[in-house]
Amino acid sequence: MERLDAFMARANTAYYAAQDPFADFTTAPEISQVFGELLGLWAAMQWQAMGAPSPVILAEAGPGRGTLMADALRAIRRMVPDFAAALQLHLVENSPRLRTVQAAKLPGAIWHDTLDTLPRGPLLLLANEFLDALPIRQFVRRGSGWAERYVADGAFTEQPAAALDRAADDGEVVEVDEVAITLTTALAERIAAQGGAALFIDYGPATSAPGDSLQALRGGTAANPLADPGSADLTAHVDFAALAQAARSVGAAVHGPLPQGLFLARLGLFQRTGALARTQQPATASRLLESAKRLAEPDQMGRLFKVLAVCHPALPLPAGFSE
Ligand code: SAH
Repeated sequence: MERLDAFMARANTAYYAAQDPFADFTTAPEISQVFGELLGLWAAMQWQAMGAPSPVILAEAGPGRGTLMADALRAIRRMVPDFAAALQLHLVENSPRLRTVQAAKLPGAIWHDTLDTLPRGPLLLLANEFLDALPIRQFVRRGSGWAERYVADGAFTEQPAAALDRAADDGEVVEVDEVAITLTTALAERIAAQGGAALFIDYGPATSAPGDSLQALRGGTAANPLADPGSADLTAHVDFAALAQAARSVGAAVHGPLPQGLFLARLGLFQRTGALARTQQPATASRLLESAKRLAEPDQMGRLFKVLAVCHPALPLPAGFSE
Protein backbone atom coordinates (compact mmCIF):
# COMPACT_ATOMS: atom_id res chain seq x y z
CA MET A 1 0.00 0.00 0.00
CA GLU A 2 1.34 3.42 -1.01
CA ARG A 3 -0.07 6.86 -0.31
CA LEU A 4 -1.35 8.46 -3.57
CA ASP A 5 1.36 11.16 -3.62
CA ALA A 6 4.13 8.56 -3.23
CA PHE A 7 2.55 6.46 -6.00
CA MET A 8 2.26 9.49 -8.31
CA ALA A 9 5.86 10.57 -7.65
CA ARG A 10 7.15 7.07 -8.42
CA ALA A 11 4.98 6.68 -11.53
CA ASN A 12 5.92 10.06 -13.02
CA THR A 13 9.64 9.71 -12.29
CA ALA A 14 9.59 6.38 -14.15
CA TYR A 15 7.44 7.83 -16.91
CA TYR A 16 9.58 10.92 -17.63
CA ALA A 17 12.80 8.90 -17.35
CA ALA A 18 11.80 6.28 -19.91
CA GLN A 19 9.03 7.57 -22.20
CA ASP A 20 8.73 10.33 -24.76
CA PRO A 21 5.97 12.37 -23.12
CA PHE A 22 5.30 14.20 -26.35
CA ALA A 23 4.11 10.98 -27.93
CA ASP A 24 1.27 11.05 -25.37
CA PHE A 25 0.36 14.73 -25.19
CA THR A 26 1.23 18.11 -26.69
CA THR A 27 1.80 21.42 -24.93
CA ALA A 28 1.49 25.11 -25.78
CA PRO A 29 5.16 25.67 -26.77
CA GLU A 30 4.94 22.66 -29.13
CA ILE A 31 1.78 24.15 -30.71
CA SER A 32 3.15 27.62 -31.54
CA GLN A 33 6.58 29.27 -31.37
CA VAL A 34 4.80 32.50 -30.40
CA PHE A 35 4.00 31.06 -26.93
CA GLY A 36 7.68 30.87 -25.90
CA GLU A 37 8.48 34.18 -27.60
CA LEU A 38 5.81 36.04 -25.61
CA LEU A 39 6.91 34.43 -22.32
CA GLY A 40 10.54 35.35 -23.03
CA LEU A 41 9.53 38.97 -23.64
CA TRP A 42 7.39 38.90 -20.47
CA ALA A 43 10.52 37.90 -18.52
CA ALA A 44 12.48 40.68 -20.26
CA MET A 45 9.86 43.25 -19.20
CA GLN A 46 10.08 42.08 -15.56
CA TRP A 47 13.86 42.34 -15.78
CA GLN A 48 13.57 45.94 -16.96
CA ALA A 49 11.05 46.71 -14.19
CA MET A 50 13.53 45.25 -11.66
CA GLY A 51 16.13 47.81 -12.79
CA ALA A 52 17.96 45.49 -15.22
CA PRO A 53 20.17 43.60 -12.70
CA SER A 54 23.23 41.87 -14.11
CA PRO A 55 23.80 39.00 -13.72
CA VAL A 56 20.24 37.67 -13.46
CA ILE A 57 19.01 34.09 -13.37
CA LEU A 58 16.57 33.04 -16.08
CA ALA A 59 15.19 29.65 -15.07
CA GLU A 60 12.61 27.21 -16.34
CA ALA A 61 11.00 24.42 -14.36
CA GLY A 62 10.13 21.29 -16.36
CA PRO A 63 11.45 22.44 -19.76
CA GLY A 64 10.29 19.34 -21.68
CA ARG A 65 11.91 19.43 -25.12
CA GLY A 66 13.44 22.87 -24.48
CA THR A 67 11.15 24.43 -27.08
CA LEU A 68 9.68 27.18 -24.88
CA MET A 69 13.10 28.38 -23.73
CA ALA A 70 14.64 28.21 -27.22
CA ASP A 71 11.78 30.37 -28.57
CA ALA A 72 12.05 32.70 -25.56
CA LEU A 73 15.81 33.18 -25.99
CA ARG A 74 15.47 33.88 -29.73
CA ALA A 75 12.95 36.65 -29.02
CA ILE A 76 15.03 38.02 -26.12
CA ARG A 77 18.22 38.18 -28.22
CA ARG A 78 16.40 40.04 -30.97
CA MET A 79 14.33 42.43 -28.85
CA VAL A 80 16.20 42.91 -25.54
CA PRO A 81 19.88 42.07 -26.19
CA ASP A 82 20.97 43.59 -22.84
CA PHE A 83 18.85 41.00 -21.04
CA ALA A 84 20.34 38.25 -23.24
CA ALA A 85 23.81 39.43 -22.18
CA ALA A 86 22.94 39.60 -18.46
CA LEU A 87 21.10 36.29 -18.04
CA GLN A 88 22.39 32.96 -16.77
CA LEU A 89 20.25 30.05 -17.91
CA HIS A 90 19.21 27.43 -15.32
CA LEU A 91 16.88 24.49 -15.95
CA VAL A 92 15.07 22.44 -13.30
CA GLU A 93 14.56 18.97 -14.74
CA ASN A 94 14.76 15.56 -13.07
CA SER A 95 14.53 13.39 -16.19
CA PRO A 96 18.01 12.47 -17.52
CA ARG A 97 16.41 11.64 -20.86
CA LEU A 98 14.80 15.06 -21.27
CA ARG A 99 17.99 16.79 -20.07
CA THR A 100 19.75 15.32 -23.12
CA VAL A 101 17.03 16.66 -25.42
CA GLN A 102 17.22 20.10 -23.73
CA ALA A 103 21.04 20.23 -23.94
CA ALA A 104 20.90 19.96 -27.73
CA LYS A 105 18.71 23.09 -27.94
CA LEU A 106 20.01 25.10 -24.98
CA PRO A 107 23.82 25.04 -24.89
CA GLY A 108 25.36 26.57 -21.77
CA ALA A 109 22.42 25.82 -19.47
CA ILE A 110 22.97 24.57 -15.92
CA TRP A 111 20.65 21.81 -14.67
CA HIS A 112 19.09 21.27 -11.25
CA ASP A 113 16.95 18.49 -9.78
CA THR A 114 14.90 20.96 -7.73
CA LEU A 115 14.36 24.72 -7.44
CA ASP A 116 16.19 24.71 -4.08
CA THR A 117 19.65 24.63 -5.65
CA LEU A 118 19.21 27.64 -7.98
CA PRO A 119 21.93 30.20 -7.14
CA ARG A 120 21.08 33.20 -4.98
CA GLY A 121 20.04 36.49 -6.57
CA PRO A 122 17.28 38.03 -8.69
CA LEU A 123 15.34 35.34 -10.54
CA LEU A 124 12.97 35.13 -13.47
CA LEU A 125 11.26 31.74 -13.62
CA LEU A 126 8.96 30.28 -16.27
CA ALA A 127 7.03 27.02 -15.81
CA ASN A 128 4.50 25.62 -18.26
CA GLU A 129 2.71 22.38 -17.37
CA PHE A 130 5.17 21.68 -14.56
CA LEU A 131 2.92 21.93 -11.48
CA ASP A 132 0.31 19.52 -12.89
CA ALA A 133 2.87 16.70 -12.87
CA LEU A 134 3.67 17.10 -9.16
CA PRO A 135 2.25 14.55 -6.70
CA ILE A 136 -1.06 15.31 -4.97
CA ARG A 137 -2.89 13.88 -1.96
CA GLN A 138 -6.57 13.02 -2.11
CA PHE A 139 -8.99 12.96 0.81
CA VAL A 140 -12.57 11.68 0.86
CA ARG A 141 -15.30 13.06 3.07
CA ARG A 142 -16.75 10.13 5.07
CA GLY A 143 -19.61 11.09 7.35
CA SER A 144 -18.33 13.72 9.74
CA GLY A 145 -14.67 12.76 9.18
CA TRP A 146 -12.10 12.23 6.45
CA ALA A 147 -10.22 9.34 4.84
CA GLU A 148 -7.09 9.53 2.69
CA ARG A 149 -6.61 7.63 -0.57
CA TYR A 150 -3.83 5.05 -0.91
CA VAL A 151 -3.04 2.74 -3.84
CA ALA A 152 -2.82 -1.03 -3.45
CA ASP A 153 -2.76 -3.56 -6.31
CA GLY A 154 -3.84 -0.99 -8.90
CA ALA A 155 -6.87 0.22 -6.93
CA PHE A 156 -7.70 2.90 -4.37
CA THR A 157 -8.00 2.00 -0.73
CA GLU A 158 -8.72 4.37 2.16
CA GLN A 159 -7.20 5.04 5.55
CA PRO A 160 -8.65 7.26 8.28
CA ALA A 161 -7.25 10.81 8.11
CA ALA A 162 -7.08 13.82 10.41
CA ALA A 163 -9.69 16.58 10.10
CA LEU A 164 -9.36 18.74 6.98
CA ASP A 165 -10.61 22.33 6.75
CA ARG A 166 -12.34 21.94 3.38
CA ALA A 167 -15.99 21.96 2.35
CA ALA A 168 -17.19 18.70 0.77
CA ASP A 169 -20.30 16.50 0.76
CA ASP A 170 -20.20 12.92 1.99
CA GLY A 171 -18.21 10.79 -0.48
CA GLU A 172 -16.65 13.76 -2.31
CA VAL A 173 -12.91 13.88 -3.03
CA VAL A 174 -10.78 16.93 -2.27
CA GLU A 175 -7.23 17.29 -3.47
CA VAL A 176 -4.28 18.83 -1.65
CA ASP A 177 -1.33 19.92 -3.83
CA GLU A 178 1.13 19.50 -0.99
CA VAL A 179 4.32 19.34 -3.10
CA ALA A 180 3.29 22.30 -5.29
CA ILE A 181 2.35 24.35 -2.20
CA THR A 182 5.69 23.63 -0.50
CA LEU A 183 7.59 24.50 -3.69
CA THR A 184 5.61 27.70 -4.31
CA THR A 185 6.04 28.83 -0.69
CA ALA A 186 9.84 28.40 -0.84
CA LEU A 187 9.99 30.16 -4.21
CA ALA A 188 7.81 33.05 -3.01
CA GLU A 189 10.01 33.49 0.10
CA ARG A 190 13.07 33.61 -2.09
CA ILE A 191 11.54 36.11 -4.52
CA ALA A 192 10.35 38.35 -1.67
CA ALA A 193 13.90 38.32 -0.20
CA GLN A 194 16.12 38.31 -3.31
CA GLY A 195 13.92 39.84 -6.04
CA GLY A 196 12.35 38.54 -9.21
CA ALA A 197 9.19 37.08 -10.66
CA ALA A 198 7.83 33.64 -11.53
CA LEU A 199 5.17 32.78 -14.09
CA PHE A 200 3.24 29.51 -13.79
CA ILE A 201 0.98 28.32 -16.58
CA ASP A 202 -1.10 25.24 -16.03
CA TYR A 203 -4.63 23.94 -16.03
CA GLY A 204 -7.07 24.03 -13.18
CA PRO A 205 -10.00 26.01 -11.79
CA ALA A 206 -9.61 29.59 -10.53
CA THR A 207 -11.08 28.68 -7.11
CA SER A 208 -10.58 25.50 -5.05
CA ALA A 209 -13.44 23.02 -5.49
CA PRO A 210 -13.98 19.36 -4.57
CA GLY A 211 -13.44 16.78 -7.32
CA ASP A 212 -11.09 14.01 -8.42
CA SER A 213 -8.94 15.47 -11.25
CA LEU A 214 -6.25 12.78 -11.34
CA GLN A 215 -5.82 11.67 -14.94
CA ALA A 216 -3.51 9.54 -17.04
CA LEU A 217 -2.73 10.03 -20.72
CA ARG A 218 -1.26 7.26 -22.83
CA GLY A 219 -0.95 7.69 -26.60
CA GLY A 220 -3.15 10.78 -26.44
CA THR A 221 -6.09 9.02 -24.76
CA ALA A 222 -7.26 8.74 -21.16
CA ALA A 223 -6.00 5.64 -19.33
CA ASN A 224 -6.47 4.17 -15.84
CA PRO A 225 -4.12 6.25 -13.63
CA LEU A 226 -3.51 3.40 -11.20
CA ALA A 227 -2.54 0.73 -13.78
CA ASP A 228 1.06 0.12 -14.96
CA PRO A 229 2.83 2.97 -13.08
CA GLY A 230 5.38 4.66 -15.37
CA SER A 231 3.55 3.87 -18.60
CA ALA A 232 1.36 6.98 -18.66
CA ASP A 233 1.66 10.66 -17.74
CA LEU A 234 -0.18 11.37 -14.47
CA THR A 235 -1.48 14.87 -13.89
CA ALA A 236 -3.98 16.69 -11.70
CA HIS A 237 -5.60 20.09 -11.85
CA VAL A 238 -3.53 22.76 -10.15
CA ASP A 239 -5.17 24.43 -7.13
CA PHE A 240 -4.19 27.99 -8.03
CA ALA A 241 -6.12 29.54 -5.14
CA ALA A 242 -4.11 27.49 -2.63
CA LEU A 243 -0.81 28.39 -4.33
CA ALA A 244 -1.72 32.09 -4.44
CA GLN A 245 -2.57 32.07 -0.73
CA ALA A 246 0.67 30.26 0.13
CA ALA A 247 2.80 32.74 -1.85
CA ARG A 248 1.03 35.77 -0.35
CA SER A 249 1.41 34.44 3.19
CA VAL A 250 5.20 34.72 2.92
CA GLY A 251 5.25 38.26 1.49
CA ALA A 252 5.24 37.86 -2.30
CA ALA A 253 2.81 39.73 -4.56
CA VAL A 254 0.52 37.39 -6.52
CA HIS A 255 -1.32 38.21 -9.75
CA GLY A 256 -3.97 35.98 -11.33
CA PRO A 257 -4.93 33.26 -11.88
CA LEU A 258 -5.98 34.64 -15.23
CA PRO A 259 -7.22 32.62 -18.22
CA GLN A 260 -4.35 31.84 -20.61
CA GLY A 261 -6.29 33.14 -23.63
CA LEU A 262 -6.73 36.59 -22.11
CA PHE A 263 -3.11 36.75 -20.95
CA LEU A 264 -1.66 35.76 -24.33
CA ALA A 265 -3.99 38.08 -26.25
CA ARG A 266 -2.91 41.01 -24.04
CA LEU A 267 0.74 40.16 -24.68
CA GLY A 268 0.12 40.34 -28.44
CA LEU A 269 -0.45 36.71 -29.49
CA PHE A 270 -2.53 37.62 -32.51
CA GLN A 271 -0.41 40.59 -33.65
CA ARG A 272 2.82 38.56 -33.48
CA THR A 273 1.19 35.55 -35.16
CA GLY A 274 -0.19 37.79 -37.91
CA ALA A 275 3.21 39.39 -38.54
CA LEU A 276 4.84 35.96 -38.69
CA ALA A 277 2.11 34.57 -40.95
CA ARG A 278 2.61 37.37 -43.50
CA THR A 279 6.18 36.14 -44.10
CA GLN A 280 5.06 32.53 -44.78
CA GLN A 281 3.45 30.47 -47.53
CA PRO A 282 -0.38 30.29 -47.25
CA ALA A 283 -0.43 26.76 -45.79
CA THR A 284 2.09 27.64 -43.06
CA ALA A 285 0.37 30.98 -42.43
CA SER A 286 -3.01 29.35 -41.84
CA ARG A 287 -1.43 26.71 -39.59
CA LEU A 288 0.11 29.50 -37.46
CA LEU A 289 -3.23 31.28 -37.14
CA GLU A 290 -4.97 28.02 -36.18
CA SER A 291 -2.30 27.38 -33.52
CA ALA A 292 -2.85 30.81 -31.98
CA LYS A 293 -6.59 30.16 -31.80
CA ARG A 294 -5.97 26.79 -30.16
CA LEU A 295 -3.96 28.47 -27.39
CA ALA A 296 -6.45 31.28 -26.83
CA GLU A 297 -10.01 30.15 -27.64
CA PRO A 298 -12.08 29.59 -24.49
CA ASP A 299 -13.35 26.20 -25.69
CA GLN A 300 -9.78 25.02 -26.42
CA MET A 301 -6.84 25.92 -24.14
CA GLY A 302 -7.78 29.56 -23.51
CA ARG A 303 -9.96 29.15 -20.44
CA LEU A 304 -8.99 25.91 -18.67
CA PHE A 305 -5.33 26.97 -18.64
CA LYS A 306 -4.50 29.70 -16.15
CA VAL A 307 -1.56 32.03 -15.59
CA LEU A 308 -0.31 32.91 -12.11
CA ALA A 309 2.53 35.34 -11.39
CA VAL A 310 4.48 35.42 -8.10
CA CYS A 311 6.47 38.65 -7.87
CA HIS A 312 8.58 40.77 -5.56
CA PRO A 313 6.12 43.16 -3.89
CA ALA A 314 7.94 46.27 -5.18
CA LEU A 315 7.44 45.32 -8.85
CA PRO A 316 4.66 47.07 -10.80
CA LEU A 317 1.70 45.05 -12.08
CA PRO A 318 3.28 42.71 -14.67
CA ALA A 319 2.39 42.77 -18.37
CA GLY A 320 -0.73 40.80 -19.22
CA PHE A 321 -2.34 41.23 -15.79
CA SER A 322 -3.59 44.80 -16.24
CA GLU A 323 -6.75 45.75 -18.17
N1 SAH B 1 7.17 22.68 -20.04
C1 SAH B 1 7.23 21.70 -21.10
C2 SAH B 1 7.10 20.25 -20.60
C3 SAH B 1 5.89 19.89 -19.77
S1 SAH B 1 5.95 18.20 -19.27
C4 SAH B 1 6.21 22.02 -22.16
O1 SAH B 1 5.38 22.88 -21.92
O2 SAH B 1 6.24 21.41 -23.23
C5 SAH B 1 6.54 18.29 -17.59
C6 SAH B 1 8.01 18.59 -17.48
O3 SAH B 1 8.34 18.66 -16.08
C7 SAH B 1 8.95 17.54 -18.05
O4 SAH B 1 10.11 18.18 -18.53
C8 SAH B 1 9.26 16.68 -16.83
O5 SAH B 1 10.39 15.88 -16.94
C9 SAH B 1 9.39 17.74 -15.76
N2 SAH B 1 9.13 17.28 -14.39
C10 SAH B 1 8.04 16.60 -13.96
N3 SAH B 1 8.11 16.38 -12.63
C11 SAH B 1 9.27 16.97 -12.21
C12 SAH B 1 9.90 17.11 -10.93
N4 SAH B 1 9.36 16.61 -9.84
N5 SAH B 1 11.08 17.77 -10.88
C13 SAH B 1 11.64 18.29 -11.99
N6 SAH B 1 11.08 18.20 -13.23
C14 SAH B 1 9.92 17.54 -13.34
